[in-house]
Amino acid sequence: TTIATNLAATVAAHGDREALVSCHQGVRWTYSEFGDRVHRLATGLLAAGLRRGDRVGLWSPNFAEWTLVQYATAELGVVLVNVNPAYRTHELTYALDQSGCRWLIAAPEFKTSDYRAMTDSVRPDLPALERAVFFWDDDWEQLCAGDESRSADVRAITAELDPDDPINIQYTSGTTGFPKGATLTHRNILNNGYFVTGGQELVPGDRLCIPVPFYHCFGMVMGNLGCTSRGVTMVIPGDAFDPAAVLQAVQDERCTALYGVPTMFIAEMALDDFTDYDLSSLRTGVMAGSLCPVEVMKRCISEMNLRDIGICYGMTETSPVSTQTLPGDTLEHRTESVGVVHPHVEIRVVDPSTGETLPRGETGEFCTRGYSVMQGYWNDEEKTAAAIDADGWMHTGDLAVMADDGYVNIVGRIKDMVIRGGENIYPREIEEFLYTHPDIEDVQAIGVPDERFGEELMVWVKPRPGASIDLDAVREFCSGRIAHFKVPRYVKVVDEFPMTVTGKIRKIEMRETSIAELG
Ligand code: ATP
Ligand code: MG
Repeated sequence: TTIATNLAATVAAHGDREALVSCHQGVRWTYSEFGDRVHRLATGLLAAGLRRGDRVGLWSPNFAEWTLVQYATAELGVVLVNVNPAYRTHELTYALDQSGCRWLIAAPEFKTSDYRAMTDSVRPDLPALERAVFFWDDDWEQLCAGDESRSADVRAITAELDPDDPINIQYTSGTTGFPKGATLTHRNILNNGYFVTGGQELVPGDRLCIPVPFYHCFGMVMGNLGCTSRGVTMVIPGDAFDPAAVLQAVQDERCTALYGVPTMFIAEMALDDFTDYDLSSLRTGVMAGSLCPVEVMKRCISEMNLRDIGICYGMTETSPVSTQTLPGDTLEHRTESVGVVHPHVEIRVVDPSTGETLPRGETGEFCTRGYSVMQGYWNDEEKTAAAIDADGWMHTGDLAVMADDGYVNIVGRIKDMVIRGGENIYPREIEEFLYTHPDIEDVQAIGVPDERFGEELMVWVKPRPGASIDLDAVREFCSGRIAHFKVPRYVKVVDEFPMTVTGKIRKIEMRETSIAELG
């Protein structure tokens, strides 16, 4: 099975059900109509010269057209290169150049950003880029109208595709360095989407509200592929996240499931008129990206009716999900763990220095093996070899603990671990401890080089409005309550932290700044 044959099976079984509703565009397509539109666009792309293995960049927020390109390229075996709509010329050039894109398909503009003008400005730097097409222009409409005479050719190409062909290049968030292009196959992402929605017990007729961006695997794999592989309806509430639009879509479209990162659920419940929305249709969903505060999870269950909502953990390189909680799991499991191993993959926690599997309850590197592990980093054998070992285990770089009952907890990243005089310090532990300080609103801990101890601990703190904090106050708060070697040596007071475009904190940048400042 490939993405295209899987979609065809869903169209055959559920043609009259709705495939997609784009609330902000007023678009509503049944599976039959969706299948037709996708196929017509595939004929148009073939007639325009795209071939199996070519790379096409897609740079746009969530529009119905995004999904047409996703599935039309999959019919032809054309590799879709997801470009984050928040990328600007520097990152756009990097992604298109690194993946060798022949085409770029993009929204013409979004909010105040002119994608057309930015594309024009980078074209001289991209000799491989032959064509840029913008949604709703005449040439886009012509591609969508398709070329009937090429229909049989497209079907012949689809029939030849191999599930292990690369079909998608997704760039990682760039939290720990420059984004890396994970090369993913049909087998990788189609199965992962299918198992993620299976883990929520979604069935044909369910309606999933997807406010997370399509360019990221949360949207296009766990969302879109998770829906189309099961005859579930994709409901797009808006082009960018807007909490009111999400609740309106859930109410109007009677959605049964909802996705989001924790801050999205927090924003939805914080709306003044939150209780005016009818959310009685909701049942399940996924919260992912970071651990969920207990209070937020409790309120999602009781106030949003999301009684079966679960947590997922994963990374771009593993398609993405490796662990997921199960419907009916306890509140503890859904707030203090990232769930249990996903179907058909293996996981283990190893000692990063020896590679030996650790006993349950001990902290080590999370490794996973199976269908979900990417083919490699695009055009980067060295980085691929460093990430996937000879036995096929993906070394995630994440630190995890597996409990006796198999539930996994993520405790941080190896790159962020601080080794001070031979003692391991997990920044997350220090951060959680300092969060309990009444004057601290946010805090991030890093290691900085030190001649005597190898590394020393430094924290960046953001004080609460009106409060102040300094090194002495932090050290006094820690003294006698945490081990002496975990007491921060340096404190830097800040208003904000350096972030990635996906909203993660870039500790690498914090370290560079701190090293420069410390001299
Ligand atoms: P880069 O690899 O470029 O440095 P990144 O690792 O942040 O960036 P992604 O692939 O988008 O890029 O994110 C995957 C990472 O996000 C995981 O390796 C893990 O550190 C973190 N993560 C994902 N889900 C969870 C979760 N449920 N709880 C805690 N951390 C999570
Ligand atoms: Mg990563």
